[in-house]
Amino acid sequence: MHSHPEAADTLIVGAMLYDGTGAPPVERDVALRDGRIVAIGNLSNWLAEEVIEANGRALAPGFIDVHTHDDTHVIRSPQMLPKISQGVTTVVVGNCGISAAPVALKGDPPDPMNLLGAREAFAYPTFAAYVAAVNAAKPAVNVGALIGHTALRNNHLDNLKRAATRDEVAAMRAQLEEALANGALGLSTGLAYGSAYEASTEEVATLAEPLAAAGALYTTHMRTEFDAILDAMEEAYHIGKHARVPVVISHLKCAGPSNWGRSAEVLASLDGARKYQPVGCDCYPYSRSSSTLDLKQVTGDIDITITWSTPHPEQAGKLIKDIAAEWGVSQQEAGKRLQPAGAVYHNMSEDDVRRILSHPATMVGSDGLPNDPLPHPRLWGAFPRVLGHYARDEQLLPLEEAVRKMTGLSARRYGLAQRGEVHVGWHADLVLFDPAKVRDAATFDKPQQVAEGIDAVWVNGVLSYRDGQPTGERAGHFVARGPREASANTSANVAF
Ligand SMILES: [Zn+2]
Repeated sequence: MHSHPEAADTLIVGAMLYDGTGAPPVERDVALRDGRIVAIGNLSNWLAEEVIEANGRALAPGFIDVHTHDDTHVIRSPQMLPKISQGVTTVVVGNCGISAAPVALKGDPPDPMNLLGAREAFAYPTFAAYVAAVNAAKPAVNVGALIGHTALRNNHLDNLKRAATRDEVAAMRAQLEEALANGALGLSTGLAYGSAYEASTEEVATLAEPLAAAGALYTTHMRTEFDAILDAMEEAYHIGKHARVPVVISHLKCAGPSNWGRSAEVLASLDGARKYQPVGCDCYPYSRSSSTLDLKQVTGDIDITITWSTPHPEQAGKLIKDIAAEWGVSQQEAGKRLQPAGAVYHNMSEDDVRRILSHPATMVGSDGLPNDPLPHPRLWGAFPRVLGHYARDEQLLPLEEAVRKMTGLSARRYGLAQRGEVHVGWHADLVLFDPAKVRDAATFDKPQQVAEGIDAVWVNGVLSYRDGQPTGERAGHFVARGPREASANTSANVAF
């Protein structure tokens, strides 16, 4: 029997293929050509310009970081080393109510929009302008985008400490519709922050109405993650039901010592809602959170590490209680003097993190803060930490399930068409890693460290990272919302 060799740009030979559906791995060869996966199977009769011997290492869809604040970073630092080095091939920006577009500032960006950069970083009055800037920057990863409710409030309200009027909501809605027409994935809120806290449920529900016709979704950093978390979840479900759209609860957690141990109750609420409407969540695999310094959380009952401070940059890396002692003032007073500032809050229990991470509706998202000079290590380590620490070392979940939570589940939820799973004809976003070696190296003390065991990363078929180094190729681009595909794996309830 004679067969003519088939030709590919790249042939990956002898991989254990984790296809992103949650199915157990199988040994396969995979061929890539012109940015697409063109064959999967025994491809020993194929020729390719480049052949990579996988030697039984894991090949998976490139990881999708559904929770990022990389809005301006993908333009300013398009090599995207913190993400490509983890095997991430697509980032979703615009989370927690803050997006770089569409934005017109009146002065300095209000908290927490300042997480995305200083005034000059906000140069995109329309979403179309942002899309053009992303593509012009040629980032190393693909970029999908949510539109932030707080960003829209900033554009139309003279004062963020109040609810929007009916006319203001209409003006915000017009901007949201422009973004949806240009491929935005959905609307995000950050209702816990002072800049959105006074927004009524009705304000958000009305603003969310155009999402359904566009096939978009609603994501929320809820009004609270502390004692009243169940009420905040009900508010999220209500908004999703009103707007008839899927809901993603951002970085689901039980925050604050009085709330520790309630993850079973919180997940029971999620499961209850999931009987009636599509609801899921994301989380990062750490028991400390990070954001701007919020004086409401400076209560003395948890440790808080300062990561940056505009008036006191020399205090970065210290605990606020030690700064307060050094200054001879209360922690509240120290917090006031440090503002504006960034912080890491030691505010979760490990048992809750594990229970939420292993729930089948939970995706992995880093919530990394790329502009922080002493960033929470999730920026560089979230994905390898799930694969290495939680799946391999702690046996919290099977590796194929960990992969599904960062690929297939994520792509289906966000409408990232033909990504997140390995199928012939789909985009060739792939990561080759060593399951025995993969490990997050980033720590709270030394957070800017590339992960170990991530051996090769392809973005749109282009080898972009290999053996601990970027190749210099940057093949990512803006990805518009596509049709939300039906699940291939009915047993795991992957659709939502
Ligand atoms: Zn958030």
